Amino acid sequence: MKEGKKRLFILLGLSILVVYGAIFAFIWFLISNRSPLFNKILLISIVAAFVVIMLFMAGGLLLLVFSLWRFKSSRRLNKFNRCVVEIFFPAVSRMGRLLGIEQQTIENSYIKIVNQMTAASGEKFRAEEILILAPHCLQNVNCPHKITIDVQNCHRCGRCSVNGLLQMAEEMGVKLVIASGGTFARKFAQELKPKAIVAIACERDLTSGIQDMQGIPVLGVLNERPNGPCYNTNVQLCKVRQAVEQLIDEI
Ligand code: SF4
Repeated sequence: MKEGKKRLFILLGLSILVVYGAIFAFIWFLISNRSPLFNKILLISIVAAFVVIMLFMAGGLLLLVFSLWRFKSSRRLNKFNRCVVEIFFPAVSRMGRLLGIEQQTIENSYIKIVNQMTAASGEKFRAEEILILAPHCLQNVNCPHKITIDVQNCHRCGRCSVNGLLQMAEEMGVKLVIASGGTFARKFAQELKPKAIVAIACERDLTSGIQDMQGIPVLGVLNERPNGPCYNTNVQLCKVRQAVEQLIDEI
C-alpha cells in the first residue's frame, strides 16, 4: 500500500472542481447556442446552481489549504474544515478510484489531513477528558482475557500492545478502551463523553470512525498489520504517546 500524502486529497478535490468546471462550460456552450427560451431559463438555473456549489466548494477547499499551510486554525474553522473534508470525501474517493488510486491510499491522506487540522486548532484538554480508543485486533489471539468488557482484565503479560497502552494511559491519566467494532467504539464515545479522542485502527476503520465522531477532535494513529488485517496487529506506542501529548493540557 502506498502512503497517502496530504496533497493527494487536495489534488483530487481540485480535480473535482475541474470536472465541475468542464460541466459548467458544456452547459454554457448549450446556452450560447440559442436554445428556446424555456430551455435557456432552465439552463441558466442549472448554471446558477453549479456556480453556487462550485464557489462554496472552491472557497472551502481554499480555506482548508490555507489552514493546513499555515498550520493554524481555530475550533470554529476546524469544524468548518471538517465539514468541507466530509463533503469532498465521497467525491474524492470516486475520483481516486476512477484514476486507479487505491481506496486505502486516499483514506491515508484523509487521516493525515484530519490529524493536521486537529493539531493546528491547538486545542488542549485535561488528561481525563482524552480517550484512547483502540481496536480489539491488537489483543493477542491466544489471550483468554475479556479486555473489551474492561481493559483492566488484561493480565499485562506483554504479549501484545495492550500492556503498553495500559501503562501509558495510567501514566498520562487518560482513559483507554478496547472496542470490538465501530458500534462499540460509538457506544464508548457516547458513554464516556470524551472531549478529544486518540483513535487507533486501520485506514478504513479510522476513516469511518472519524466520520462518526463529528464535533470531537480526533487524532488517528494507524495500526500495523504484520499478520494481515484484523489479526494480532500492533501499534507504535511512541506514536500514540505523541498524539496524546498533542492534545493534553499539561503532563
Ligand atoms: S498483554 Fe494483556 S491483552 Fe495482551 S496478551 Fe497479555 S494479558 Fe492478553
